[in-house]
Amino acid sequence: MGRVFNFSAGPAMMPLPVLKEIQKELLDYKGSGMSVMEMSHRSKVFQQIADEAEADLRELMGIPDNYKVLFIQGGATLEFSMIPINLCKNGVFDYIVTGAWSKKAMTEAKKFGRVNVIASSEDRNYSYIPDCSDLPVDDDADYVYICENETIHGTTYQKLPNTKGKILVADQSSMFLSKPCNVSDYGLIYAGVQKNVGPAGLAIVIIREDLIKTDLPENVPIYLRYSTHSENGSMYNTPNCWAIYCCGKVFKYLKSIGGLEAMAKLNKEKAQVLYDFLDQSKMFNGTVDKEFRSLMNVPFVTASAESDAEVVAATKAAGFDNLKGHKSVGGLRASIYNAMPIEGVRALVDFLKKYEEEHGNV
Ligand SMILES: *Cc1c(COP(=O)(O)O)cnc(C)c1O
Repeated sequence: MGRVFNFSAGPAMMPLPVLKEIQKELLDYKGSGMSVMEMSHRSKVFQQIADEAEADLRELMGIPDNYKVLFIQGGATLEFSMIPINLCKNGVFDYIVTGAWSKKAMTEAKKFGRVNVIASSEDRNYSYIPDCSDLPVDDDADYVYICENETIHGTTYQKLPNTKGKILVADQSSMFLSKPCNVSDYGLIYAGVQKNVGPAGLAIVIIREDLIKTDLPENVPIYLRYSTHSENGSMYNTPNCWAIYCCGKVFKYLKSIGGLEAMAKLNKEKAQVLYDFLDQSKMFNGTVDKEFRSLMNVPFVTASAESDAEVVAATKAAGFDNLKGHKSVGGLRASIYNAMPIEGVRALVDFLKKYEEEHGNV
């Protein structure tokens, strides 16, 4: 069997040229006589891999010098607690809850302080982004938190919230590097890399230097302090060398295709193909208010759970994998991250069109 079009929400597809390069270097990385998997993280050759990965990411996103880039294990989920632990000054945290991931992060933050939910779209099963232009931001809030692209519900912000001068913290896991980003709008950006970049098990944290506290309470574990990771170049202990290496390859690949502007253009074209189809289809309907549709995760439904399941089975048989929607939304979900080629989306739309012609009226 050849490679399928994998519409998984994560871990997800990686660019084929990157996989091929990794394959070529698998047994003997650039004459080192060993695989990156076998290499000491203290070796010169690995240090260069890590340094280049950071430099390329900085270039891609235009990360200002007063921001640190940290590679931390534990995925995006560990950041749900590291953020309130590390950014705590007054112990007041404002959350905008637009779906399952921001809700999880908010729930975790409650363990470390007083949490205000200053906006929510739960009333319509998170199918939109609330108006965030004039929110009741707490005077004492240590930060305002958003999940910028809700992976499960398929919503994204068109405009960042007005935080009224408070620090903005964003979970960008499912949209990281999908478009240009003005890093200085944020105090902290983080992403689990397995959605839009590389293999699972690594989170990238981009944090403004002055937010890295060194006077946290003594009982905060050493590993949960951003200062530990920052002071040790993300190598306090053995990092996820393999994921850093693979992500570095993806950064170089993105640079080679023209950077984030070019990527964003392609992502828009790709998503348009699918949304145009959904907008004219009688059988398949998108679940998100048009204005807030994600370019990365596209949930859609048919008239019944039964026919949803039939479509999922048919797509799988035709070589389109992982289109089953998350149980909280139901239906189908096509995750079309950076590495999904436009041909994959066109092929899926052709398949769904044909399916509708054959089954649409039953
Ligand atoms: C997948 C995902 C997470 C959780 O990522 P892990 O690395 O599995 O912890 C958090 N936030 C968003 C937006 C996600 O898509």
